[in-house]
Amino acid sequence: MDASSKKVSIKTAARVRPCSHGTNLQSSLTIDSENSTIIVKSKNKEYRLNNVFDEDVTQETIYDTVAQPIVYDFLGGINGTIFAYGQTGSGKTFTMNGYKITETSDSPTRGIIPRSIESIFEILNEQSKNDPQFKFSIKCSYIEVYKKVAFDLLQTDSATVKIQASGEQIIIVGAAEFVVTSAKECLSHFKNGWNNRKTAPTSMNRESSRSHAIFMLTLVTEEIQGISVNLRTSRLNFVDLAGSENQKQTKSTGERLKEAGSINQDLSHLATVIRDLEKKDSFIQYRNCFLTHLLRDSLGGNSRTSVIVTVHSNLKFVNDTLSTLNFAENCK
Ligand code: ADP
Ligand code: MG
Repeated sequence: MDASSKKVSIKTAARVRPCSHGTNLQSSLTIDSENSTIIVKSKNKEYRLNNVFDEDVTQETIYDTVAQPIVYDFLGGINGTIFAYGQTGSGKTFTMNGYKITETSDSPTRGIIPRSIESIFEILNEQSKNDPQFKFSIKCSYIEVYKKVAFDLLQTDSATVKIQASGEQIIIVGAAEFVVTSAKECLSHFKNGWNNRKTAPTSMNRESSRSHAIFMLTLVTEEIQGISVNLRTSRLNFVDLAGSENQKQTKSTGERLKEAGSINQDLSHLATVIRDLEKKDSFIQYRNCFLTHLLRDSLGGNSRTSVIVTVHSNLKFVNDTLSTLNFAENCK
């Protein structure tokens, strides 16, 4: 493992969810977006991240600040991953997908994934128009990871998804990859996959908040430079993580507690991998969990990573808010 794959800069952002009861008298937080700091008042703890967004931030600002730089790099051949991390109900899916899965492209509340898809096709189509020699192809996949087992959200009757490692590269076995030629086609797979998350036979008896959902795009571009053909491949992952809430507090038992153990292991392993990426000379234990193994190509090395943590301002959730912000701080 070469040293260059360790010095990775991971961008972190926090987004505070609007309080559901109008004015928020019991806010646990002081937010200073200008200085990118967030203070948990009762614990007297201050966090400084790359960006801190208060509850009035628009989806457009989130996209422009957090996602667009990663999308542009992806178009230039660099792998990228955007994570949403936070307790259930704090706005991970709102941030990634939007208010509703059925939103159209003029809806201001659509999230990072539909905005990214639209922008990617717009830019690539423009480039093909200007340069007839430029060619591209895009494939999408959608995987759900639940208690260490992965399922394909795009083929609901399929067997589980496995990973094979071939040197530094990983090969995902058992997940459909659909070639998509327009934003509309890509969005339609994304929506089908999201809907399957709730209704597929493999999803029976599980809450979607207890699994990770990973939407992946693979881009191949072909440019003619002089007499040579320049082929580039890059991958972009959008990861809506399982709820990070502490299950001991919510008094889970049986299956729920087992799920929680598995989720907490995955999330803490993710934190370890991210932390080790920033340390030179530490061996990175990607293979210890499915999620980090799956994302191995796109974490570290020649890649960009952004973590958006979502939090409630409500005092009631202050312990989960603290643990979420600690995760972000650990990723810096
Ligand atoms: P999570 O995916 O973290 O469990 P959701 O994204 O599903 O949380 O959010 C829970 C609820 O709060 C949803 O009804 C969602 O529409 C709403 N919500 C979350 N964040 C925002 C926001 N920034 N503005 C408006 N509504 C939001
Ligand atoms: Mg969700």
